[in-house]
Amino acid sequence: MKSKKSDSKIDNIRHSLAHLLAMAVLEMDNKTKLAIGPTIENGFYYDFQFSDGFKLTKEDLPKLEKKIKHYIKQNIEFKHFEMSSYDAREKFKNEPYKLELIDKIIECGEKLSFYQSGDFIDLCAGEHITSTKEIDQNAFKLTSIAGAYWRGDEKNKMLTRIYGVAFENKAKLDEYMKMQEEAEKRDHRKLGKELELFTFSDEVGAGLPLWLPKGTIIRNELEKWAKETEKKFGYQHIVTPHITKKKLYEISGHLPYFKEDLYSPIDIEGEEYYLKPMNCPHTHMIYKSKTRSYRELPLRFAEYGSVYRFERSGTLHGLMRTRGFCQNDAHIYVQPEKTVEEFINVLKMHKYYYDILGIKDWRITLGVRNKENINDKYHGDNEMWEKAEELTKLALDKSEIKYVIEEGGAAHYGPKADIVIKSAIGKEYAIGTDQLDLYMPKRFNLIYIDKDGKEKMPYIIHRAPLGSHERMVGFLIEHFAGAFPLWLSPVQVKILPIADAHKDYAKEIFEKLEENNIRAELNDENETLSKKIRQGKIEKVPYMLIIGDKEIAEKKITVESRDKKDFGSQNIETFIEKLKKDIANRTL
Ligand SMILES: [Zn+2]
Ligand SMILES: [Zn+2]
Repeated sequence: MKSKKSDSKIDNIRHSLAHLLAMAVLEMDNKTKLAIGPTIENGFYYDFQFSDGFKLTKEDLPKLEKKIKHYIKQNIEFKHFEMSSYDAREKFKNEPYKLELIDKIIECGEKLSFYQSGDFIDLCAGEHITSTKEIDQNAFKLTSIAGAYWRGDEKNKMLTRIYGVAFENKAKLDEYMKMQEEAEKRDHRKLGKELELFTFSDEVGAGLPLWLPKGTIIRNELEKWAKETEKKFGYQHIVTPHITKKKLYEISGHLPYFKEDLYSPIDIEGEEYYLKPMNCPHTHMIYKSKTRSYRELPLRFAEYGSVYRFERSGTLHGLMRTRGFCQNDAHIYVQPEKTVEEFINVLKMHKYYYDILGIKDWRITLGVRNKENINDKYHGDNEMWEKAEELTKLALDKSEIKYVIEEGGAAHYGPKADIVIKSAIGKEYAIGTDQLDLYMPKRFNLIYIDKDGKEKMPYIIHRAPLGSHERMVGFLIEHFAGAFPLWLSPVQVKILPIADAHKDYAKEIFEKLEENNIRAELNDENETLSKKIRQGKIEKVPYMLIIGDKEIAEKKITVESRDKKDFGSQNIETFIEKLKKDIANRTL
């Protein structure tokens, strides 16, 4: 069953495999009730309600695969036909989910379309392959089994979803599986635990990461870098509190329009206060704290600001989706005539950051209004919107960054440029949004005194090139597979004395590194050298220094590097100079 027409042969293969999967499940439990079985990226799934007492686990998936392979070999044909609503209801009288779908299709005035493969008939809009001989039986795999609510609604019954992947040929499947394996190895939740970067606690709550000392070093290094960069680009730093009186969100329109993103208010001396879901309104109050002159503009206020947004527990995902996060935020108040130039500067900043981090592939989706449906979803008048969309496009065109336009993707108060970055293994994450906002200045009555002495309204650019600490660090863990470049590594150098006699010299080296602000650790435990090296490799430490008799005699160190070949024997001063240079340049 699928509501959307397929558009390619591989889609038809995936879709047909979903039907074959349903056939295989029915063969094992003929009382299973069928829900839906659509195609998804790289594959397909089917949702089932098994009969009482019947269970399937991941270990059973090969059994199902075997049955599907057996069908494929039989060259089963897929035949399309239609049925009257009476016949359809009769045929599916024991299939409650299909009956619900049939009713819905009839309600929409559409035809009831079916596909038959062997004895199996499914309600289905198509399309399909003509016969199973079009499927390469070595190019599909059932990958996982999970719970899923009927129609994705947690008020409904929990069904069992079986996922599969399928490709044109085995080589493509193998490539995909290899990539998946690599992605699993790099999973930030797994590495975050192994490398002791962050943790979660039941007592604190889901979606609320606790940053461990090593993870905090990465956060702090990113923040230091962002603040240095912002200073160079003419930003000033501010700090605002995590809560606010209700009044502020009545002005911004978060109340009542975005109440579902907010946590319930807290009562402070009889007054309602909210946790902030974004930093903008607080920052606007800083703008408003005095009369602004055109001479001050563009005024760029930056803050690594903590925000809290309501997320359903089912959508939380490690550091990637949390209930509280700290944003690399800034708001630029700019004269209308300087907006494009300023927006281009913001885009330059993106490029600089991503170049340093070795993020080669990133793109922008520009969300504009849905032209056919300009209704009260969008605040502000038509003229304002056209202006904002035109200026944003102009800035993007001039900066020569590739972008696609997405109709209907705008925020309620303006067009937004969503930035998606791609990790070294091709996993994509939306990292942040830049927005040109002509609406909030009106709501907050923001003004500046222009050259001619008249009061004018500035435009606002909201920007967050490094997204949030949570998402950025999560991304970087996967991007670097935990092997951070020197400047971001929580421990930059480990010193490994071979035996007791070498500990004093090792300590001397350790102190020299510390004096030079290099994060060093001395492993003077009574273990073998190979064990110490192994441990350092697990921790993905960039450099290990081996200290033994030879090193002491020559007053040198032996350097073992994580990424390159051995540096061999070195003078400690030369080594420190090299490290300091790489840290300062944030070398990859
Ligand atoms: Zn179908
Ligand atoms: Zn903002």
